Parts: sequence; structure tokens; C-alpha cells
Amino acid sequence: MADDIDRANEQADYLLQVALERRQRPATGVASAQWCVDCDEPIPLLRQQTIQGCQTCVSCQGLRERRR
Ligand SMILES: [Zn+2]
Repeated sequence: MADDIDRANEQADYLLQVALERRQRPATGVASAQWCVDCDEPIPLLRQQTIQGCQTCVSCQGLRERRR
């Protein structure tokens, strides 16, 4: 019985830790470039935040995708 309670507590602690870690770390895992790597135009902040690790502006991204 005591073991079961310990295990439940451990799991609760673990879940709490995971929740805290998630709160500390921002949702963006990969930093986006502030300027387009292709044409050096500034990338809109909304685009930086929406697309993780985004490297190009909208028009250059379009060109890249067409080239592919
Ligand atoms: Zn560009």
C-alpha cells in the first residue's frame, strides 16, 4: 500500500516538474532569423514567431519553394 502511494506521489512530482519546465521554456524551440538570409529584408516579427527557425522573408520562401 505504502509503495503505491509513493509511486503516485512520484508521478505527481514528475508531472509538476514537466509543467514547470514547459512554462520556463518559450514555445519557440528554434530561433528565427530577424533578417532574411537571401535578401536581407527584415522578417516580420509575427512570421518569426509563427514559423520556428524561419530564415527567409515571405517572398524568398516562395521562391525557394518554387525552385524545389
Ligand atoms: Zn527575402
